[in-house]
Amino acid sequence: MDARQPDDLAAALIGLIGTRGPLSRAEASRLLKVSPARITQATRPLVDAGVLTESGTVPSGGGRPAILLDITNGRRRALGVKVTPNHLAFARVDLAGMAGEASSIDMDMRAPGAINRIVDTLATQVRAGDEELLGIGLALPGSPDRNGLVTSAILGWHRIPLATMIMHATGLPVFVENDVNALAIAAQLYDDGPVADDRLLVTIGYGIGCALTLDGHVYRGAHGSAGELGHIVVQPNGEPCDCGLTGCLETLIGDNALARRAVILGVLPEDGTKDDLNAVARAGHAGAADLFDWAGQQLGDTLASLVHLFDPEDVVISGEGADVWEFWEPGFTRSLRAHLPSHRRDLRVTVRNWGEDTWARGAASLVFASPFDRVGVSLSGRRVRQMLREGL
Ligand SMILES: [Zn+2]
Repeated sequence: MDARQPDDLAAALIGLIGTRGPLSRAEASRLLKVSPARITQATRPLVDAGVLTESGTVPSGGGRPAILLDITNGRRRALGVKVTPNHLAFARVDLAGMAGEASSIDMDMRAPGAINRIVDTLATQVRAGDEELLGIGLALPGSPDRNGLVTSAILGWHRIPLATMIMHATGLPVFVENDVNALAIAAQLYDDGPVADDRLLVTIGYGIGCALTLDGHVYRGAHGSAGELGHIVVQPNGEPCDCGLTGCLETLIGDNALARRAVILGVLPEDGTKDDLNAVARAGHAGAADLFDWAGQQLGDTLASLVHLFDPEDVVISGEGADVWEFWEPGFTRSLRAHLPSHRRDLRVTVRNWGEDTWARGAASLVFASPFDRVGVSLSGRRVRQMLREGL
């Protein structure tokens, strides 16, 4: 994405002032590395629309006092949206990362007209809100490319200009991101745990995902699809995968694969599901524990290669499957350590529990993180978090 497009600059200004507090046009120009004239041009419609307010002055080196720009009172929330194959969920999230009550609408994303329904639903949401919004963040199982066109095999979408469509319908800045990347950005902003500028965040569940945070930024790759850990081939002649290839890691340890394997091993009856597998593991079934131990081992084997490539400060495990991580952990730790040199075997691995509001916070954080992430301001995760807290 060209971060110097006017719409991106407006979004970046909103995000910067929203997270950092009032600042002058000169300061914004310096922080965002664009000319003062472009800042003036970008702020005018925002002030006219009532998104930004001119709020007092500060002395400026010798000349006239500089006017401070602030977010208009009340506009300190973002709408976090999650798109899944069968529903659209959304919640309002404030700058501190606190999510309000979530709403969810059943929707078949592959049905004709689904994209227009998403746009209409969000436009209605924005109009109906009693508080004003800074922007909209959407997290989805797919990848926006550099032009913002979204492609997702699981949603059946090919190069959809989703952000532009929603922006035209709502008048708000819109950020669309892969759901695992959104989670990694939220972790940089809000987690109470350690912050790492070089991190592998792995999600387990229906699919196996990975967000690569490198040098403080989420790395997206040339087409926005970096980090597809679940589609690394581990069995060249293995089972067919949803992605059209065969033998991907997901075909071994994704939810459906684990449930199938549990049936074959006699751990579950013929129609057993992944939820059933979790339940029998928790009830102390040795065969279920062995299966998760094996799954952990497969994940550890593959992840060790990424650790060799990227040398992360830590690894974070999350996703809806992480609630039974205790059963994955022994096999995972054993195999990860076995494939790492002795001086890397103390690699920190932490688990983030997957809460109901995790996705909403992740999606909304795209709006708050926008000045840092989109306009190329090079700041580490630690600094972004500090600025966010100072701005509250
Ligand atoms: Zn695959």
